[in-house]
Amino acid sequence: MGRQFFVGGNFKMNPVTREQKNALVKVLNDADIDTNVEVVIAPPALYLIPLKETLRKEIQVAAQNSYFKTSGAFTGEISPAQLVDAGIPYVILGHSERRTLFHETSELVADKTRAAIDAGLRVILCVGETLAEREAERTKAVVDAQLAPVVAALTPADWDKVVVAYEPVWAIGTGKVASAAQAQAAHKDIRAFLAGAVSPAVAESTRIIYGGSVTAANCKELGGQPDVDGFLVGGASLKPEFVDIINTKR
Ligand code: PGA
Repeated sequence: MGRQFFVGGNFKMNPVTREQKNALVKVLNDADIDTNVEVVIAPPALYLIPLKETLRKEIQVAAQNSYFKTSGAFTGEISPAQLVDAGIPYVILGHSERRTLFHETSELVADKTRAAIDAGLRVILCVGETLAEREAERTKAVVDAQLAPVVAALTPADWDKVVVAYEPVWAIGTGKVASAAQAQAAHKDIRAFLAGAVSPAVAESTRIIYGGSVTAANCKELGGQPDVDGFLVGGASLKPEFVDIINTKR
């Protein structure tokens, strides 16, 4: 079976009012969307349950982060078990904003991934290089090193719970999208890494999505690449054009 196209909307710390949040839900609920696409929206934690309750059934929700402990004295954190209890199916882990601004290491991301899967969540696992790393031709080395602790923490069977998001840091929120060729090359490298480090079957079945300044204008070319299985969309997920990105394959 082929890899189902996946489009995630990462709202980040947006919007700021419930009124704006309701307007975003209305756009998605009223839209004509391709039902062959798996669509997952990651709102701020405060809006997870309201979104789950008000979004049309075909659209799932994701947390933007979770901790690796189940409960206890961890002020400000959300546990995977709490997300599962609330009926939330997905969590984004290892986003570059968490790695950079909140100093999350790849080892911590691996621990969180293990805990999320143990609790019953699916994981959108983000990896990607900085501009300096790309210019030093270290993209593959950096991405492989981000993936390695996760490979060590998971069994091969766990990988059907993981969507890998390749998000070059220099393309996130900058308007500087990776070219289709750059995205394809990085995704092919990630698939080759998974084939060697996990198994060829896991490499073949794991969805690898692209994130970083995806818009309605560039999604078709990116989405037409053989190893690009969808997108993780930030800024444009807050705009009506997100519907066009969901419908990339139409
Ligand atoms: P962007 O963000 O689409 O605003 O570049 C993507 C992301 O951070 O997931």
